[in-house]
Amino acid sequence: MKKMILIKPGELYLKGKNRYIFENRLSDNIKKAISGMGDFEVKKSQSAITVIPRGQEDTDPVFQRLQKVFGIARLSTAYIFPKDLDVIFSEGADLAVSLLQNEKTFKVESKRSDKKFKLKSPEISKLMGAEILKRNGKLKVDVNNPDRTIFVEIRDSAFIHTNQTKGAGGLPLGSSGKGTLLLSGGIDSPVSAYLMAKRGLKLNAVHFTSPPFTSPAAEDKVKRLVEKLNVFTGSMDLYLVYFTEIQQAIREKCKEEYFTLIMRRFMMRIAENIAFKTGSKALITGESLGQVASQTLPALNSTDSVATMSILRPLIGLDKFEISEISQKIDTYDISCEPYEDCCTVFTPTHPKINPKMEDVIREEQKLDIDELISKALEKTRKEII
Ligand code: ATP
Ligand code: MG
Repeated sequence: MKKMILIKPGELYLKGKNRYIFENRLSDNIKKAISGMGDFEVKKSQSAITVIPRGQEDTDPVFQRLQKVFGIARLSTAYIFPKDLDVIFSEGADLAVSLLQNEKTFKVESKRSDKKFKLKSPEISKLMGAEILKRNGKLKVDVNNPDRTIFVEIRDSAFIHTNQTKGAGGLPLGSSGKGTLLLSGGIDSPVSAYLMAKRGLKLNAVHFTSPPFTSPAAEDKVKRLVEKLNVFTGSMDLYLVYFTEIQQAIREKCKEEYFTLIMRRFMMRIAENIAFKTGSKALITGESLGQVASQTLPALNSTDSVATMSILRPLIGLDKFEISEISQKIDTYDISCEPYEDCCTVFTPTHPKINPKMEDVIREEQKLDIDELISKALEKTRKEII
């Protein structure tokens, strides 16, 4: 029996006249996600998108892949029948009975998108229900709280399917523009990537390295994190910024207690520079309010003030436990926990400023040639496409 996947986009009803832009993007993203998995036709069909194999391709691996594509609210495997009443109420009813084999109660819900079809939706439901009961007398109809619902949809063909699986939700990747992620090797920033990609942001990533204080293994870890994230974010450009000279200059010239704050201001400036060059409209970090000394409000204000672009912090209201749960769900947790040093842990002050005054930070920072240090770091930045 020929199968296909029926996809219900999420949230697109909010988009009014722009809806088709989101639908087209979702269709394109679906095509990209399943390219190389066989010959499938991806088609918009009223309020749904259908993925139909052109030959005998199995739809199950595609179904699993599509569960990670943003912009899909629900999806189901549907069985395709000709729009022929005899076939629908014989072969279709046989199929429905097999889908109900572990259940006690059911209902049938029908939708007739093709208004030329002879029967109206309630009639289709009623007849299908009767055919199912004829085949299995133990089943009972329960319209309020059925164990399972059988859906009959009359579109360009007749589709029969059962309860839908929840999709990844969110908006189609790219529909909110582009953002630049500050990606460390920790637990938090990969989770931020996932959450912002979910809101439709196409991402590139910036990682700061301080060789020889940070090792090639730390860099490799970040690349593996990007590979894991790719399932959700699509391919990402990774910018590896040479941060050693900046950190050494700060250590030589600035008071130790301001070290982390000044370092973070450099990170923001450099990330924003890369963001401007690559068409990003926002910076994204994995910060969460109060998690560490550099994430108190005064510290966040001090980092914010060097950037003109919005800084998105999707984890700001989550605690570490909640963040770790998402990290496990998206399968970045184990890699994040590998113990390689990050440039933030190199030269950490023993007593960081928790309540920094902006003028003090600026005074300390002015001991450095900021522009010169930044342009040198940018010159040595490497780009990798992952
Ligand atoms: P994470 O788990 O994401 O590393 P964290 O709790 O360790 O976060 P910090 O080390 O203070 O917090 O870093 C805060 C944020 O700054 C990170 O979430 C990330 O967005 C950014 N960041 C920190 N270190 C780096 C780095 N080496 N390269 C790029 N971004 C970084
Ligand atoms: Mg970190």
